[in-house]
Amino acid sequence: MTEMRVASLASGSKGNAYIVEQDGEALLIDCGLCLKTLRMRLRELLSKSGDGCVPNLCGVLLTHSHSDHAAGLRPLLSKHGVPVYANVMTAEATAIQERIDDSAFVCFENGQSFDVGPFEVSAFSIPHDTSDPVGYLVRGTSVYFHGTDIGMPLDSVGLKLAEADIATLEANHDPVMLRTSGRPPSLIQRIAGPRGHLSNDDAGDLVRRFASPRLSRLALAHLSRDCNAPHLALEAVRSALEEVGRADVLLKVLSQDEATWI
Ligand SMILES: [Zn+2]
Ligand SMILES: [Zn+2]
Repeated sequence: MTEMRVASLASGSKGNAYIVEQDGEALLIDCGLCLKTLRMRLRELLSKSGDGCVPNLCGVLLTHSHSDHAAGLRPLLSKHGVPVYANVMTAEATAIQERIDDSAFVCFENGQSFDVGPFEVSAFSIPHDTSDPVGYLVRGTSVYFHGTDIGMPLDSVGLKLAEADIATLEANHDPVMLRTSGRPPSLIQRIAGPRGHLSNDDAGDLVRRFASPRLSRLALAHLSRDCNAPHLALEAVRSALEEVGRADVLLKVLSQDEATWI
């Protein structure tokens, strides 16, 4: 048995894809990249860790139907007959939007555990402006929390974070940069709203209240290119970790353009 490892292939509004790997089996969380980029990032990742063999893809977990998370599904499925796990509303919305046959989806109920390869997976509700969006807990040799596209730092989300050894958490924007971005007021309202995206401070708030002693690795995800900067996201969450005596947590930011081991 090998230890669970987690990586980002891309993170941000131009496309999201994350990998959880163990025992030569891999789960893809979201598929917002074209197949060419997905393969390129996977090779980049494996060369960073010195691995020779590509893990077997045992399933795709879909968080929600927005195209930055789902636009690469159809090309992936045309080459690899891999099951896509989603709740019913996400499966229905994605099937229509991405022109994918219903039979590609394996539907679950939020909160119910199911097995994929060596992993036990459960989905939890998050507030975001689409039908029934979720985050995931993936249990293998470690417990992995995956939460992006979250409108508010809800306790229900934090309680899932508290179960994790490894976590990916959204830190989308700096509120001042968002307000002064020159974007249309309706878009600013949408992003900052209760069904939009987590700010750096929101991410810090969740971490301050819910990072448990078991949390060892934390990656900040889905950073806005125009309304955030990696050092701002890191500062906000690092100071939250320091406040609760957890400066030892390995903290990093994920990139839109580069594969990163978490
Ligand atoms: Zn997104
Ligand atoms: Zn979204």
